[in-house]
Amino acid sequence: MRRARRQTVTPAGLMLVVLGFLALTFIVLLPARAGAAYLDGSGSASLENSPVQPTAPADPASGGNSSGDASSSAVSSGGGIGIPGFPTISRVLCLKQCVSSTKPTRGAIIALRGDNLDRVTRVFFTAKKGRVAVKLRTRSRGAVRVTVPGKAVRGFVAVVDSSGNRTRTANQLRIFPISAIPIQVFPVRGPISFGSSGSRFGAGRPGHIHQGQDVSASCGTRLVSIRKAKVLYNRWDGGGGNYVVLHNIGTRTNFVYMHMIRRSPLKVGQVIGAGTQVGRVGNTGQSSGCHLHFEYWIGPWQTGGRPIDPLAFLRSLLK
Ligand SMILES: [Zn+2]
Repeated sequence: MRRARRQTVTPAGLMLVVLGFLALTFIVLLPARAGAAYLDGSGSASLENSPVQPTAPADPASGGNSSGDASSSAVSSGGGIGIPGFPTISRVLCLKQCVSSTKPTRGAIIALRGDNLDRVTRVFFTAKKGRVAVKLRTRSRGAVRVTVPGKAVRGFVAVVDSSGNRTRTANQLRIFPISAIPIQVFPVRGPISFGSSGSRFGAGRPGHIHQGQDVSASCGTRLVSIRKAKVLYNRWDGGGGNYVVLHNIGTRTNFVYMHMIRRSPLKVGQVIGAGTQVGRVGNTGQSSGCHLHFEYWIGPWQTGGRPIDPLAFLRSLLK
């Protein structure tokens, strides 16, 4: 009898050990599974399609590498089994209410670009006393967008993801007052020439007179809005090539940009601020060389208004 009992007890004990081990495994793995599910759920929708093109000038705020946090910059491409990578920030871009693409104001919308940002839950700005947290406007793997809070002062911007991983900008971000936003800027963002008499307003052209000023620049040079404006037209035709007509909000005047290298990314009806990219210098339509054909209209373009000589105005923007 004793031998028989010992034989039946042993397998039961083994079962208990196995069950205990399974339960332990389940408990240990549970948090990791929950984390992975969250990542899958949030990683699909990419909202990052900013029309703002990054520009070359290096601002302290847009350093190339996130060296502020050695642990985070080292591990960015975690290709393992469901283990999410650490967030990194490589660049800060100002999208709206900006002094320039690297100089935000309080209330500006900025994009923090980098990698593994799709699990970021909060962004912290430096404030006079400690830090201030803001919610995200949009989030994708490559970028998060936030509004610069009113209490923000110059300092690092940090992000924290749902696992508690954190990183910050490589450099301190300067926050500018709204008064620093330029009201008007020169439309061509690179070396230019106003050419000779043939480039002038009123110069002879086959069948008509020249209704604008030609501004020579390398093809591909960025073209930006001179001031706050509404996009009236974004079109192509055989004469002007790719062109846009911008209505200057609060005035009766309109500006025209012609011969752009490709269609403008702007949408008709869109309101843009001074310095917003309109397109790039090109040589499309009736054009023999890379240049911006610029027109300044008082009143409606082509429908009752009249063009004026814009050269003095353009020169004033260069001062
Ligand atoms: Zn022209």
